[in-house]
Amino acid sequence: MATLSPVRGTQDILPDEHRLYARVEETARDVASRYGYGEISTPIFEFSDVFSRTLGETSDIVTKEMYSFEKGDDRLTLRPEGTAGVARAVMSNGLRQHLPLKFFYRGPMFRYERPQKGRRRQFHQVGVELLGVAEPLGDVEVIALGHHVLSDLGLGDKVTLEINSLGDSESRQAYRDKLVAYFSRFKDELSADSKLRLEKNPLRILDSKDEGDRKFVADAPLLGDSLNDASRTFFDTVLNGLAALGISAKVNPRLVRGLDYYSHTAFEFTTDMLGAQGTVLAGGRYDGLFEMMGGPATAGIGWAAGIERLTMLIGEADAAPRPIAIVPLGAQAEAAALKIAQNLRHARLGVDLGYGGSMKSRMKRADKVKAIATVIIGDNELAKGVAAVRDMDSGQQTDVSLAELEQHLARYRVEEKK
Ligand code: ATP
Ligand code: MG
Repeated sequence: MATLSPVRGTQDILPDEHRLYARVEETARDVASRYGYGEISTPIFEFSDVFSRTLGETSDIVTKEMYSFEKGDDRLTLRPEGTAGVARAVMSNGLRQHLPLKFFYRGPMFRYERPQKGRRRQFHQVGVELLGVAEPLGDVEVIALGHHVLSDLGLGDKVTLEINSLGDSESRQAYRDKLVAYFSRFKDELSADSKLRLEKNPLRILDSKDEGDRKFVADAPLLGDSLNDASRTFFDTVLNGLAALGISAKVNPRLVRGLDYYSHTAFEFTTDMLGAQGTVLAGGRYDGLFEMMGGPATAGIGWAAGIERLTMLIGEADAAPRPIAIVPLGAQAEAAALKIAQNLRHARLGVDLGYGGSMKSRMKRADKVKAIATVIIGDNELAKGVAAVRDMDSGQQTDVSLAELEQHLARYRVEEKK
């Protein structure tokens, strides 16, 4: 029955997988907070305009990937990305008076794409946004932050930073003219999408995934040759800043970003370990975004990283924490075990209390949950005020008085993370 499978392109995240997600999220949140980025959550759906006005009417996202629906008189869309919602939130909450602002976010995004390895219809991102900083130092900080997160995840030598400049609007206009002249020569041979892009946003042809388009893209004029002096200086400052931090960056003159609101710096951290879906973290400067939303001009730069792609790279999940199993034998012992388990949990120990069954089946359960120790309490022991504690790795068993049980078991407490 169709309702027994998840919707195509979506997935359940089970506990083992969840620990990997948590590691990515916690690492990103922790590093971001060291750079002064506070966490923000925006709603999972917004008015469709928030995305359609900003991402560009010829972008892949707006033309085919948005999950949109109507409710009452509202036209709504499940967020395909995080930046537009954050910009909207800054305006809704009157936060522009506090610029510059730094935000970290995490959560699900939705795009109607062809599902494949590393590409889902519901996927998850961590991301950061730096708002109100027009200086290239902002670009350097944001890229360094992305690099730092990847390094802390142990991926420092598995990813490459590619970077390009889209220049300011004057440079992009000059480039746009050159591109129109160039692609017009092959107009009839371009894909239907790219014919439309030629009129509306020729830069986007460079990002086309169509094989036929790609061969014309290969010889297209380079954006770098159209940068004016101010844009070139800006880009050089970013590159020098990265070099000063020891972050190596490969200039890729063909790198463009798929969305309309970008200017100046565009960058991606890529890996060759994930096949075609090799971009793990991508971002850029989006100084035009707020105006597209009908707000005042506000500089911005940020990135987003795909959690699924990162979890595929960081590999094995940490083992689940090992609990202490309590095995009561007899009615009185069972009643006492409930209370003992609860006390130990309040003392920050992980406890697995079997719900019923024989001694044998309860010991089996202790093995199954990989208990680190088992506390066996029979009615006789209970009368004497003791329990038998078995260390499951050494097999050693000791009688411990119930009064000292918590103290004795403290050795099994998982150390609090710093
Ligand atoms: P791509 O070229 O792979 O489609 P994109 O340019 O659409 O990427 P962004 O909008 O920049 O991607 O999103 C940032 C990151 O989010 C990507 O680098 C990737 O890691 C992740 N991501 C994007 N779309 C998906 C998806 N459908 N499934 C899983 N991860 C995704
Ligand atoms: Mg995409």
